Amino acid sequence: MNTKIIFVSGGVISGIGKGVATSSIALLLKSRGFAVTAIKADPYLNVDAGTLNPIEHGEVFVLNDGMECDQDLGNYERFLNQHLNSTNYMTTGQIFKSIIEKERALEFEGKTVEFFQDPPREIIERIEKCAKKNRAEIIVFEIGGTVGEYQNLLYLEANRLLKLTRPKDILHIHLTYLPIPSSIGEMKSKPAQMSIQQLAQAGIQADFVLARSQVAVDTKRKEKIAIACGLNAEDIISAPDVENIYQVPLNFENQNLSGKILEKLSLKPKASDLSRWKIMVNDALTAKRTVRIAMVGKYFSTGDFTLSDAYLSVIESIRHAAANFNFKPRISWIDSAQIETEGVKVLAGFDGIVVPGGFGSRAVDGILTAIKFAREGKVPYFGLCYGMQLAAVEFARNVLDLEDANTTEINHKTKHPIIDVMADQKDKIEGKNLGGTMRLGSWDFKAKKGSIIEKAYKSITGSERHRHRYEFNNAYRDRFEKEGMFISATTKDGKLVEALELKDHLFFIGVQFHPELKSRPLTPHPLYLAFMEAIAQSKKR
Ligand code: GLN
Repeated sequence: MNTKIIFVSGGVISGIGKGVATSSIALLLKSRGFAVTAIKADPYLNVDAGTLNPIEHGEVFVLNDGMECDQDLGNYERFLNQHLNSTNYMTTGQIFKSIIEKERALEFEGKTVEFFQDPPREIIERIEKCAKKNRAEIIVFEIGGTVGEYQNLLYLEANRLLKLTRPKDILHIHLTYLPIPSSIGEMKSKPAQMSIQQLAQAGIQADFVLARSQVAVDTKRKEKIAIACGLNAEDIISAPDVENIYQVPLNFENQNLSGKILEKLSLKPKASDLSRWKIMVNDALTAKRTVRIAMVGKYFSTGDFTLSDAYLSVIESIRHAAANFNFKPRISWIDSAQIETEGVKVLAGFDGIVVPGGFGSRAVDGILTAIKFAREGKVPYFGLCYGMQLAAVEFARNVLDLEDANTTEINHKTKHPIIDVMADQKDKIEGKNLGGTMRLGSWDFKAKKGSIIEKAYKSITGSERHRHRYEFNNAYRDRFEKEGMFISATTKDGKLVEALELKDHLFFIGVQFHPELKSRPLTPHPLYLAFMEAIAQSKKR
């Protein structure tokens, strides 16, 4: 069987959930017994997402092989419940970079390298590579940006070329938006019709339209949209707002989306199994007891929307684990600058404190105060990457009495560099060789017996994803252990610290990796489960 490719584009506005729609389509096709994978194409010139500001662009997601990519890859992995790799992500920067490298290696053999012809070829080559690497029967390919932008034309052109040569293997699904302006109080379909027309101008006829709106789209409007793109009304799929993103595939399936897709691709379904997914969604929706989590960080005052995007995987992981304990999580964003001005009273009443990953020195004192509060007040504490490093700094200052202790990321002249860069990283920083050069991707660890890690993973070994430049300074290991904070995991060779835990505390752990990158709704992450369990226990008391 030829690999089938389903392109997904977005229209009218961004931020209407194209990543979730793509993930949902992929999940539905997987549930019908096919080997499915997904690709995200970002139309900008960055080579990867590692250099993008998460507050503006959303979380930088990291794959096992170290690829720093768009947060949508996180959704794909969570919905598909499978690991992806660097072939699942491309940017126009990558495309151009490899074309130019090929040109420099004389691979074009004297031919002109054409702006509008060679990139689509490169895109198609990469799709084929991805299919092979992931042994996929079906690829769902999400085109970043919105139709009508200049930037994503190269991807639409790749779609058009593939459709010309392999008409039976290629589909296009367009996700569009129907606003309900408050002054009119009625759903309007004109912008959607226009985005479909813009797609047609790029030479592409949509096979399905997913109509996003606040509420379900009625038959009258479905018919209007259907006429605009020459489809049947049943190919217009209603995609109303939902309480929980994991409901989206179930809503699509109620309209038999996967059945209709398979029919257009002339494929016979081999199975149908969404039973575990349905149970998971039901558990999350019916959870009753509230659990209050404080996420403490150096946030800009951008409002919850962008923040929740910047920490998407952490939030999702908390939700996955909470649902398992019948908890409904209420996550509050605590700006550490506010702790600096108002003190720890802003931390009162929380069941657990999380310090997620981060960079730089802004409002770090507030974070340190929050960590001290959690340590002394025996509040369950979970530090992720920077949250581990700063827990070490706090412990060094307040328990080991090393007044000036710090990470050299903040003060490179500190007398006590508790967190420091490795020699190879020093060269990279000095040479400004900063893109894609952190410690990235999956690293194996080994844990101590009796640690939170061992209990959570039910094993003393495991593997987790990383994204950081600085490390715990081994010169301080003994002093930490003597005073009650022990190294609970290291890399397999014992050289790098992977986790720190407090002995005399219900749950106080910092990990150098990002467990949230591997939590899935059907398989919540063991450490997030352990955090929730500790919270459940401390709530009982
Ligand atoms: N800034 C720290 C480092 O580079 C932590 C990074 C992170 O939290 N992802 O090591």
